[in-house]
Amino acid sequence: MARPNNTYSGFLFLLFNIIIPLTFNITILGTNAALPDKDTITSAQVVNVHDHLYVVDCGEGMQSKLQKYRIKRNRIQAIFISHLHGDHVFGLPGLLTSYVHFQRERPICIIGPKGIREFVETCLRLSQAYIDFEVHFREMDHEGCALIYEDAKVSVSAFPLLHRISTYGFRFDEVIDKYNIRPDKIKELGLTTDQIKAVKGGSDILKADGMMIPNEEMIFRKTKVRSYVYCSDTAYDESIVDFIRKADVLYHEATYLSDMVVKAKERMHSTVHDAAKIATMAGVGKLVIGHFSIRYINKEDFLNQGKLEFSEVILAEEGKIIEIHLEKSLKF
Ligand SMILES: [Zn+2]
Ligand SMILES: [Zn+2]
Repeated sequence: MARPNNTYSGFLFLLFNIIIPLTFNITILGTNAALPDKDTITSAQVVNVHDHLYVVDCGEGMQSKLQKYRIKRNRIQAIFISHLHGDHVFGLPGLLTSYVHFQRERPICIIGPKGIREFVETCLRLSQAYIDFEVHFREMDHEGCALIYEDAKVSVSAFPLLHRISTYGFRFDEVIDKYNIRPDKIKELGLTTDQIKAVKGGSDILKADGMMIPNEEMIFRKTKVRSYVYCSDTAYDESIVDFIRKADVLYHEATYLSDMVVKAKERMHSTVHDAAKIATMAGVGKLVIGHFSIRYINKEDFLNQGKLEFSEVILAEEGKIIEIHLEKSLKF
C-alpha cells in the first residue's frame, strides 16, 4: 500500500496501522531434554500474539525464567502442555500457585492430554494450595487435527505426535479481522467513526444523498495470517506434515544429532535430520530446533547438520525472541 501524501490521509494511514496490533513472537525459555542444567531449564516457551501471552510447555524453573525475562505472568491467557512427561509440565503447579502473590483474578485455560486435570488438581489438593481464580481445563484425546482453543487473537489446533505417552503438537494461527476498511474509502465517503465501525461489522452505508454504498466496495480482504507450530516430543512422523504445512515458523524437537538415529527411534525422539526433513516437506518458513539432549555441549553441530537438509534453521536458545513479521521477514 502506498503511503498517502496529504496530512489527513497520512493521519488515517497511521491510525489504520496503529489499530492493527502487530506482535507475533515466541520467547524461548527452556530447551533441555529431560533435565535442567545449572543455568538452563527444560521445555518452556511463551507465544505472544497481539500482546496476549500463551505458555507452551512449562518445565521446572519456568517461574524464574519469566522473572528473568520480565514476562508478566498475569498476561498469560492459556497454558498448552504437549504431554505429561515431567520435563514439560513440572513447572505448572508452581506457576499456578504463584498467582496468589500476583492478585490474578481472570480465569486461565489449561490445555493438555487426558490426565492434565488430575495432575494439577492432585498437586493443588495434596499441597493444600488454593487459587482464587477460575481454571478451565481442556483435555485432549483425539485423532487428527482439531481446534482446541480460540480467542480474539489466535486459534490453536492440536494434532497427535508419535511419542511414548499421549503427546500433541500445537498450531497457532493468528486471528485478524478477515475484512478491513479501505483507508481511501474513509476519506472519499467522509465516514464517521460510527460508520467505520458499522462497515467493519459488515454493514452497507446509506449516504445523506440516499445513495447506498455496498459493504464490499469499502472493505478489503486480508488473506495472510501468521502461524507458528510447536512439535515436541516426537519420533520422526510424516503424518504430521499436513498439519504443519506452510507455517511461518516450526519448532520441532531435535533431541539427538544424526548419528544417534537408533537411540532416537528407541526413545521415540527425533534427530536434527528428522526435524529438518519434516520442515522441508511441510514447506515452512523457518525451523527452530530444540529439546537437546544434555549429552551435547556444543549446539553448533545441530545447526550445521540441520542446514545440510534445510537452510533456514535456528537454534532454540534461552531468551531468544523469534519475531514473525506480517510481511514474513523474520528478525532475531
Ligand atoms: Zn521431553
Ligand atoms: Zn517426552
